[in-house]
Amino acid sequence: MRLSRYFLPTLRETPKDAEIVSHRLMLRAGLVRQESAGIYAWLPLGLRVLNRVCDVIRAEQDRAGAIELLLPTIQSAEPWRESGRYEAYGREMLRITDRHEREMLYGPTAEEVVTGIFRASVRSYKDLPRNLYQISWKFRDEVRPRFGTMRSREFLMKDAYSFDVDQAGARHAYNRMFVAYLRTFAGLGLKAIPMRADTGPIGGDLSHEFIILASTGESAVFCDRAYLDFAIPPATVDFEDVAGLQGLVDAWTSHYAATDEMHEADAFAEVPEAARMAARGIEVGHIFYFGTKYSEPMGARVTGPDGIERPVHMGSYGIGPSRLVAAIIEASHDEAGIIWPDAVAPFDVALINLRTGDTGTDAACAEIQAQLEAAGLSVLYDDRDERPGAKFATADLIGLPWQVVVGPKSLAEGKVELKRRAGGARESLAPVDLLARIRRA
Ligand code: ATP
Ligand code: MG
Repeated sequence: MRLSRYFLPTLRETPKDAEIVSHRLMLRAGLVRQESAGIYAWLPLGLRVLNRVCDVIRAEQDRAGAIELLLPTIQSAEPWRESGRYEAYGREMLRITDRHEREMLYGPTAEEVVTGIFRASVRSYKDLPRNLYQISWKFRDEVRPRFGTMRSREFLMKDAYSFDVDQAGARHAYNRMFVAYLRTFAGLGLKAIPMRADTGPIGGDLSHEFIILASTGESAVFCDRAYLDFAIPPATVDFEDVAGLQGLVDAWTSHYAATDEMHEADAFAEVPEAARMAARGIEVGHIFYFGTKYSEPMGARVTGPDGIERPVHMGSYGIGPSRLVAAIIEASHDEAGIIWPDAVAPFDVALINLRTGDTGTDAACAEIQAQLEAAGLSVLYDDRDERPGAKFATADLIGLPWQVVVGPKSLAEGKVELKRRAGGARESLAPVDLLARIRRA
């Protein structure tokens, strides 16, 4: 992609009302633009990151056996009355009346919709277990939307819903998502710690929040430092292995870790002092087992092997991709801008032509771009008629993992410069060696 033909509205000034660094950088780097309070447009560069975050989430959901579907954003109030949540949800729910005076709402979550779909088509334990997920926009009329896409009113959520014949099955479904989440956040370059959590309005009794530590996080958290060195389950983990998954979850819940709502000072005091960590964190995922809370009132029942019909056991599992984009920036930036982890970078390489219009550098850049793209790397080629300083600043701000700098002086010696955005290491090498060098990292 040539930058001269792209749409990258970066800002030179630091936006005044943006309180935290990720919000400032998302605005400055042209990732998003606020349209109204807590509602954002995702600009092309931001959308590429958001899509890559979703790709990682999707791959791990699929690996764990969940099945993707897509539910409507506008829902009928009907099933919410059945579950009893229509009144209970309160003012965070955006309620809408259509032209026929029917009560509708913009979904803040989708337990009711998915339970309705399940109820209409599944009758027997033979059709279980199932886990259905979607990645779609939600709306919650937050009292205080803030920190950009970290706490917005309209936000993207991956929400999964598991259905099992009994509690033991549901526990395994919970463990599948628990392990999938560990892999997902690690795949995004983040260290997320599962913490015992309050179940809130969704209800139920088994729940963990996945928290990444960051000084700007909204939650106060208390945990054992040991988690920071825990090994992430490999891609080969067997999601059918009930005891194996339980063992992994047991290990990952064996040390103290709780958000402030669930914090027990006495238990925390037993953590060795050197390992005790009281910090702030960002909730990036939240999983719940809530049993028959929805299936019971909504009549979602299945016949078990004994021929008896019972309400299905359910859990729900959320991740916030739009919040994650901000959280990744909180965890990975410097004074000059964003430092994208390779897995979510909007482009792999920033190709910088120091003298656009010079036949030599133009030809070398065209060749490098073609070579890297042919190998499957994505390249944002800064071919604008700008000073080198402005191009360097843009490249650092938007944080692509690699910068390839092509100038007439080094080109005369057959070399270009390669800079790793993270750490800033530079080396000089021949254009033909770029690909192998980037691949080696
Ligand atoms: P919070 O406690 O931060 O308000 P929540 O507990 O209400 O979040 P869940 O219902 O657990 O959120 O939603 C699942 C995930 O969706 C969260 O872990 C988070 O990543 C994301 N999410 C929730 N609310 C927002 C929001 N207002 N803006 C962006 N992402 C959100
Ligand atoms: Mg939550």
